[in-house]
Amino acid sequence: MKLEYSAVKSAARKLKFRTQAFIDGKFVNAQSGKTFTTENPATGKPLAQVAACDTTDIDCAVMAARRVFEAGTWSRMKPADRKKLLLKYADLLEANASELALLDTLEAGKPIGDCATMDIPDTILCIRWHAEAIDKLYSHVSPTGPENLALILREPVGVVGCVIPWNFPAQMAAWKIGPALAAGNSVVLKPAELTSLSAIRMAELAAEAGVPAGVFNVVPGLGETAGQALGRHPDVDMVAFTGSTEVGRYFLMYSAESNLKRIILECGGKSPQVVFADAPDLDGVANNAVGAAFWNMGENCSCGSRLIVHKKIKDELVEKIAKLAKTWKVGDPLDPQNRLGAMIEKPHLEKVLGYIEAGKAEGARLTLGGRRILEKTGGYYVEPTIFDKVSNRMKIAREEIFGPVLSVISFTTEEEAVAIANDTNYGLAASLYTRDLNRAHRVSRAIRAGTVSVNCFSEGDITTPFGGFKASGFAGRDKSIWAHEQYTELKTIWMQLA
Ligand code: NAP
Ligand code: MG
Repeated sequence: MKLEYSAVKSAARKLKFRTQAFIDGKFVNAQSGKTFTTENPATGKPLAQVAACDTTDIDCAVMAARRVFEAGTWSRMKPADRKKLLLKYADLLEANASELALLDTLEAGKPIGDCATMDIPDTILCIRWHAEAIDKLYSHVSPTGPENLALILREPVGVVGCVIPWNFPAQMAAWKIGPALAAGNSVVLKPAELTSLSAIRMAELAAEAGVPAGVFNVVPGLGETAGQALGRHPDVDMVAFTGSTEVGRYFLMYSAESNLKRIILECGGKSPQVVFADAPDLDGVANNAVGAAFWNMGENCSCGSRLIVHKKIKDELVEKIAKLAKTWKVGDPLDPQNRLGAMIEKPHLEKVLGYIEAGKAEGARLTLGGRRILEKTGGYYVEPTIFDKVSNRMKIAREEIFGPVLSVISFTTEEEAVAIANDTNYGLAASLYTRDLNRAHRVSRAIRAGTVSVNCFSEGDITTPFGGFKASGFAGRDKSIWAHEQYTELKTIWMQLA
């Protein structure tokens, strides 16, 4: 598909949606026959009716996942063979990349340019990277005395439930299933109710690649029913969750009240971008800051929503950011020219607009945007919005807005900058800008966040772990070999030799 508006629109019109659950290698309706509506946030119109799975369907999926896990078809497959199948899967994802990009654009309101050049390529890379790791990992022999031999092995955990959000539908699925499947687990994935279509298609393609039936199941449905059923299921060994901190807490409770299944949580953020007066290249900083704040409409867990900037350069930098932000066109996500698409749904749009009102009411100075636009389209669009003169006590500086709203906070000393950066319940990501190498080291150590990027805004790449300190996460990391490990159990085999 050419990244031109007319070509994209025509490809979108031809799309066929898979809307059933994918359980044990087959498409099935929810046993209740119930469905829910998924809509296009760019028009406010329904796209499709999707199977609304509940406890009964989750039971079936978990049973299928357990059966194949115990059979060893996948879990005990020769690593090189599992790798081969997953690489074939990555190739199939690649062959269908345009379709997957379109599904996420239509269902999540995300710009096609982003989906086609970032989300889906990263999705494919993630599957491929974890596949390639499978037959290169060694276990350990412990330093015992001569009478014993102790093997320390990694084994798959078993049946893994994955519960994911709507902001990067395909990519978040890949961050979970990539390492979980590579490690030999069976997976039951519940996508966000707002974005199920790409995950369903991903399961179908895995089956087409030869991944055995029951190894990768997708059960669309509502959080309170399908999500909770997975969380509480006595035969699910682990849940890997990405979403809000609020819902993440439920999973810890579900685990405590059921079978103590392993829980890993990747949650929200309120990430600081700290700019010192000696920052190199303020135009470059502005460019990064705009991306950090407004990319994916700010619906990004590592969104750099707090710009903490030295007093001396604040006005100059804010001016540059505002000027650049104006060039980020907002509109139909199918138009590759647009950098911002629509907010995910009406209630979320209203929540974001509510934060903008709160910012005004608390006395921050609105310097850019602040309004809903393109209302006639039926879509949920918000302008890139900048608040200056924000204090870190204000609601807009404390709570995750998950919209295109940047709060500017100024400082005078390094200590003050670090204190403001760390004065948050979250700790997912941070950026800092300085020319001083010592300060770069000092401050990047002092900031309590899972990923700190220096003189750029970045989440690293597939080789680096991603996850949060404090309320941004619990017990886990996505990406890299550390993600692979967390989908395994550590087993000791102790042998008496004499
Ligand atoms: P969410 O409301 O917490 O939902 C996440 C998932 O949990 C969805 O599949 C949801 O299903 C399900 N769920 C909701 N209520 C549930 C319940 N009571 N029991 C079990 N499951 C339940 O989050 P979201 O609004 O989809 O996504 C935005 C959040 O994700 C933000 O906070 C963002 O920061 C975070 N996020 C974090 C990362 C990271 O890597 N750290 C990456 C991306 C996003 P429904 O869709 O049916 O509600
Ligand atoms: Mg939700």
